[in-house]
Amino acid sequence: MHRIPVSTRRREELVDITSSIEDVVGKAGIPSGLCVLYCPHTTAAITVNEGADPSVAEDMVMGLQRLIPGDWNFSHMEGNSDAHIKASLIGPSETVIIDGGKLVLGTWQRIFFCEFDGPRKRVIFVKLQGREETR
Ligand code: ZN
Repeated sequence: MHRIPVSTRRREELVDITSSIEDVVGKAGIPSGLCVLYCPHTTAAITVNEGADPSVAEDMVMGLQRLIPGDWNFSHMEGNSDAHIKASLIGPSETVIIDGGKLVLGTWQRIFFCEFDGPRKRVIFVKLQGREETR
């Protein structure tokens, strides 16, 4: 298993982590398999979405803020219940296919770490599963 550090700079933001994951997959030498990404945090998440236009990531943050306002009368004493809810809505994990030794993503797709209670030093777990090339 690989641990990839992610530093976030704002309370809420989507960080494009695709190149870090591509590095791990490239060095592993697995021609065909699966890349499982897992976020071990309760106020952050992982998603795959458009990376060609950075406005999409900003709009996702804004859309989630409107969906789950931070000023509701939450019970949780930490004051970050909106972040917990957003993290569960997006989810802690993604699985991406590896083919030809590379991640298979759609033309416009990128992998994003979703921060909902930053800025913080975070980590994601990456597990690669697959077969070695047969000769
Ligand atoms: Zn909390």
